[in-house]
Amino acid sequence: MDHSQKQFDHRLQDVVSFVIAETNMIMDKFVVKTQSASTKAKTQSHLAVNITANDRTRKYPPGTFHVEDGMLFCSSCNMVIDHV
Ligand SMILES: [Zn+2]
Repeated sequence: MDHSQKQFDHRLQDVVSFVIAETNMIMDKFVVKTQSASTKAKTQSHLAVNITANDRTRKYPPGTFHVEDGMLFCSSCNMVIDHV
């Protein structure tokens, strides 16, 4: 019981750090998008919503998450965080 509780806490931490990084990334993209909006960059609008699993892992310290088959894994518990 104690072990599964610990695992649950870790999973919760995984998801929380994932959501925080995700939010930061969306904000980054939003800022870039609004800045380029004045220059009317038409080709960049598609990139703003196209965030890959590899883009995500770059936002974390090395060894936190990794990508396998387009899915994001927690490197310490080796479980899927997000299906892309
Ligand atoms: Zn984990």
